[in-house]
Amino acid sequence: MDSTHLLSSPEQLVAPDQLLAPDWLLLPEGPRRGQGVLIANGCFADVGPLELLQNRYPGHPVRRLESQLLMPGFIDTHHHLSQSFGKGLVFGEPSEIFRRVWIPLEGSLDTDLLYLTSKLAAFESLRGGFTTVCDAGTRSLEGVEAIAKAVHEVGIRCVLAKTCNDLQGGQVLAASHILAMAEQHLSAWDNDPLVTPSLAIPIPEIATDSTLRAVYQLCHEAGRVFQSHVNEHLVAVERSLELYGVRPLEHLHRAGALGPRALLAHATLLTPNEICLLRDSGAAVSYNPVASAWKGNAVAQAHLMHCLGIPIGLGTDGTRGDAFRLLDCAESAQRFAHGLPVGDSVCGGGQIWLDMGTQDAAQVLGLGKVTGQISPGKAADFLLVDLAVPELLPSWNLTWDLVRLANRDQIQAVVVQGKVRLWQGWPTDWDARALMRQVDALARAVVSQAPIHKVHPFPSAV
Ligand SMILES: [Zn+2]
Repeated sequence: MDSTHLLSSPEQLVAPDQLLAPDWLLLPEGPRRGQGVLIANGCFADVGPLELLQNRYPGHPVRRLESQLLMPGFIDTHHHLSQSFGKGLVFGEPSEIFRRVWIPLEGSLDTDLLYLTSKLAAFESLRGGFTTVCDAGTRSLEGVEAIAKAVHEVGIRCVLAKTCNDLQGGQVLAASHILAMAEQHLSAWDNDPLVTPSLAIPIPEIATDSTLRAVYQLCHEAGRVFQSHVNEHLVAVERSLELYGVRPLEHLHRAGALGPRALLAHATLLTPNEICLLRDSGAAVSYNPVASAWKGNAVAQAHLMHCLGIPIGLGTDGTRGDAFRLLDCAESAQRFAHGLPVGDSVCGGGQIWLDMGTQDAAQVLGLGKVTGQISPGKAADFLLVDLAVPELLPSWNLTWDLVRLANRDQIQAVVVQGKVRLWQGWPTDWDARALMRQVDALARAVVSQAPIHKVHPFPSAV
């Protein structure tokens, strides 16, 4: 059945005083049939068997959503919204592209360009089914404001970090100033409906131990996430050993910055000792399989970490904002790197990757009470996914189908906090094509003028 005729306007999806009755509802325990959902004031007000809800709300009409799955929006636990102009520059590049591509590129962006690149990235994330993204940090105050403006206009939830490293090019910066800015950032978003502040030290080696500890402590006191990239590249692990005598994750631990508020991106090159340190610390991990494929040295032991009780969510690292492809890559990468060598044909099954993209990711970001599940009291952050496509027929296990077979073009609606932000891939309240024209005119000029060093050259026709 063509599902689009079910709603004559996208707003009908979130109209008040009605019971939504999708064919399938993705609950925390898995996909279920025969369920109903009531949305009020941007939240899920009630969720349960449809008959029960009909009895509870006898005056509410039922809006049937045939062949549709209503599921939580995906959550990207590691993104760099301000780097979207350069996402295609990493192809064919060896590791540590941040030194050759990201820092030169970001250094060439003024406030307006930061806003445009962030808005483009946020839009791409929504199109890919993400209703929350975690930005790993920008270097300037203007950058934070530009990203915040972009995410507000696009309407995506965002954990937004301010970077706080005090070592730069062999110089030690004034930690007191950095910490004052950090505190200011943590307290600046108290009543913001979409932005949750966070602090970041991009890699442990660019901060003194006292600043690592102090920044972690600020996050601990504020109940916010402390972000860092650890043990992603072999060259960085070896540099850390040479400079500090310990590996990056051990460095965080030694400095007092490894604890339950830490969110570690990548964590691909961990020794057994470090995995134990990680487990004992309560720190969380962002598993970034596409980043491993494009510019990494290894694949994180995500399945093992999950089994050890280490909190773990999926992240794109700004590679591509496509949640279903991320799930697929998460499973495939895990299988190639860690399942096949030991004959594990299940390798976590479908549920583990779906959870890492939704409810587990929310926990990792400290947003477990806010989003990541279809349950009463949580924000109405959800996707309406059309299941009437040949790729999903016949369906024996919808959970695993969503990991291996589902596609971005099945996403009919993206809703954040009860507001329809995209309908069939496009915004309902702003002109995305105008943004794309603007970006197209500016991005190429910026990238060509930035002092970027690509090892793998552009084809000569570009
Ligand atoms: Zn990153």
